[in-house]
Order: sequence, then structure tokens, then C-alpha cells
Amino acid sequence: MAKGLTLDDVAAFAEPRHREYWQSVAEFCADEIGDCVPPGTDDEARRRARELARAMGRAGIYQPIADGDIRGCIVARELLGWWSPLADAVFALQALSSTPALIARGSLDGSESEEDGGEAPHPAVDWARRALAGDAIGAFAMTEPEAGSDPASMRTLAILDEGSEGDPAGYRLTGTKTFISNAGIADFYVVFASTAPSEGARGISCFVVPADTEGLRFAGPQVMSAPHPLGEIRLGDCRVPAGTRLGAEGRGFALAMATLDRLRPTVGAAACGMAGRALWEASEHARSRRQFGRPLGSFQLVQEKLAQSATELAAGRLLAWRAGWAKDSGADRITTQAAMAKAFCTEAAQRIVDRAVQVLGGRGVLANHPVDHLYRSVRALRIYEGATEVLQLVIARDLLREDRAADGRG
Ligand SMILES: Cc1cc2nc3c(=O)[nH]c(=O)nc-3n(C[C@H](O)[C@H](O)[C@H](O)COP(=O)(O)OP(=O)(O)OC[C@H]3O[C@@H](n4cnc5c(N)ncnc54)[C@H](O)[C@@H]3O)c2cc1C
Repeated sequence: MAKGLTLDDVAAFAEPRHREYWQSVAEFCADEIGDCVPPGTDDEARRRARELARAMGRAGIYQPIADGDIRGCIVARELLGWWSPLADAVFALQALSSTPALIARGSLDGSESEEDGGEAPHPAVDWARRALAGDAIGAFAMTEPEAGSDPASMRTLAILDEGSEGDPAGYRLTGTKTFISNAGIADFYVVFASTAPSEGARGISCFVVPADTEGLRFAGPQVMSAPHPLGEIRLGDCRVPAGTRLGAEGRGFALAMATLDRLRPTVGAAACGMAGRALWEASEHARSRRQFGRPLGSFQLVQEKLAQSATELAAGRLLAWRAGWAKDSGADRITTQAAMAKAFCTEAAQRIVDRAVQVLGGRGVLANHPVDHLYRSVRALRIYEGATEVLQLVIARDLLREDRAADGRG
């Protein structure tokens, strides 16, 4: 059980299947993850991430990713975030690396290849299936040293190589990808590269590249203060078959944005899970710790912190669930709702975790305390998959659209 976090608070957006799934993820977390004790080193985090990826696959935890069930992914990330930010990151990356195939091919269930006359599935589908069974680990390689918030300015190139007889057409990939989660432990990388640099975002294509492809090199880890396998990869004239391109040439950026649209509410959910854990730890402490002859929780300044956190947590969860519900109900794009959910939940979670540290006093900054671990873990969520400022631009752009003024909505 993730104390302090229940499905009842978001029941209006949940289906019966989410209640069942909540139960099974909660049991998995209690049995397989245990307490929120972080691995001590980057190497240990990498080992643990591999174990968790496999265990989650075996337990069927990735099913909502395969089903494209965003609220199911929200359930998983709320609970995993509560129990273990590392486990949450593992789930997140299996989703990020599988969802482009799901979007581009319509499903991962194999029906498409049957319709095509039993052809082998697209390599991206094959990798996604393996990832979701727990047999492979994926990574999503978009960011570059000079292209972070503005990924359309990426410099990685994919040059078409027409091939020759006996050597079919392919692409040669050259560039550097940085801040890549699972770099060094991934079995495959979903790589974004430009096939037409003069066309900006419309020139970007998507490729699925096995980690052992010649020319792809793990350049080394980027070690975070909160354990999370992160690193850089270099593509040095890395030749991939043309069939590894996912979607049409020039559709890669749209595929990446559609993937982020779906998954940003789940980042919000992970933030809520971490915040829910911190709030629970703070509440327990406020009940049991006595100063000035009374429990801390009897002081109104402490109560204000807890009340503010509980309210922000409830509001954040509703935004995340609302965005997930909209997508699951058939909305084509949920760009604004997803941006609101991610921006609000991650910013609120940072405040909630910070207040929890304050309520815990000195105990809250001890390295082996879960709240200290959450304090370090929650920070990155405000940056990756669209930093808050970039999401605010997305929300404002929608608000200021000319057609909004015309139809009286803004
Ligand atoms: C833990 C972690 C995991 C990650 N995993 C992945 C991954 O798996 N795959 C991947 O491709 N990338 C990943 N990233 C990279 C992440 O997506 C980038 O860090 C992010 O896009 C921001 O880019 P940047 O770090 O280069 O910052 P910059 O783009 O340089 O931005 C720095 C700051 O400036 C602000 N800023 C930028 N533009 C504007 C603007 N127009 N107006 C106002 N403010 C602005 C930003 O909000 C940010 O606060 C990860 C990052 C982290 C920290």
C-alpha cells in the first residue's frame, strides 16, 4: 500500500480496470521493491535498474504501455514514484522507448503484420514487445549538447546510403546524444536524427538502433545525485538498415512530440507519487515527534504546511488524471492538458517534498532518509520531457491562438 495515496481521490477519472491494476502494482511494489532506499552508487543503480526492468516485465506491470492506456501508466508511476524513483524511471523509459512504435504502427499486438501477410514486425515493434516483456531495455535519444529545450535544432545527421547489390539501402548516423536515460544499459535506442537539416523539425526522422550496432558507442555515464542511469552516446558513421526508420522520413519530430504528449501526464503522476510519499512521511513525523511538550502537528505553522501540500497534491493528481482520461477517451492530441499536468505536478511536488524536509527537521537531510532521497530525485522531473518554462510557452501559445479569440474562448 502507498500510504496517503488512494485511487478514491481520482475515482471520477478511473475505470474498474484501474482499480484492479492499482492493486497488482501495489503488491508488486511491496514484494519486489521494498523500502525507498536508493542504490549507493551509479554502478549499483544500473544493475538494479536492469533487475527492476526484468521483474516488472515478468509481473505484467508494463501492460498499460502496450495497451496505450495512459491512466494505467499514471497508476504505475504514482505507485512506483511513491516506492522508488529508480523503479519509476525504469518504467518511464520502457514507455518512452516503446510508445513511438505503438503510435507509428497503430498497435503492438501483431495484427498489423498479419494483415500485411505475415511479414516480420517492424524492428521497433519487435524491440517494444521485448522491452514490455522485461527482456530488453530501451532508451529515447533526442537531446544533444547544443539541442535541449529546442530539439528541432539537433545536429545528428542520418544520411541516406543507397546501397548496392547485396548491400541494401540504409542510413549513416553521425552525432552525439547527451543526458540519455539508460545510456550504457539499454539494448536499443530510439534515435532522432535529421535526414534534411534545412527543413528543421520537418527534416527529423526516427530510427530504432540496437545497442550493439557498429558505430554506436556509450561515451560514459553522467552521474546524478539521485541514482538514475544517465549518459552520453556517440554515433560515428553508424550504419542502420533503411527498415529501422520508424515512420516516414521527416515524421520523427511529430512522432517524438506525440509520444511526449501522451507521457507528460505520467511524469506528473510520478511527481505526485514522490510528493505523496513525502507528505505521508511528514504527517507521520508531525504526529509522533514532540517539541515544547506537544506533537509537532499541533502547531498551526506545521498544519499549514501539511494542508498546503495535501491540497496541491490533490490538485496535481486531478490534472494528471484529467489529461490521461482525455487521451484514453479518444482525444487526438492533449498537448495543453499534458503540459499543464506536468508543469503543475512537478513544481508542486518540489514544494511538497521541500516542506516535508522542513517538517522532519535534521532527520530530513540525512542521506539514508527517504525524504532526502525524494528531495534529490524529484528535482529532475521539472527539467526532462519539457522543462516547466517550455511547457508554460506551450500553454500560453494555445491560450493566445487567434482562433480562440474568434470563437470567444479566450
Ligand atoms: C534526469 C534526466 C533524464 C533525461 N533523460 C533524457 C532522455 O532519456 N532522453 C533525452 O533525449 N533527453 C533526456 N534528458 C534531457 C532533457 O530532456 C533536457 O535536459 C531538457 O530538454 C532541457 O535541456 P537542457 O538541459 O539542454 O537545458 P536548456 O535547453 O539549455 O535550458 C536551460 C533552462 O533554460 C530554460 N529555457 C530554455 N528555453 C527557454 C525559453 N524559450 N524561455 C524560457 N526559458 C527557457 C529551460 O526551461 C531551462 O530551465 C534528461 C534530462 C535529465 C535531467
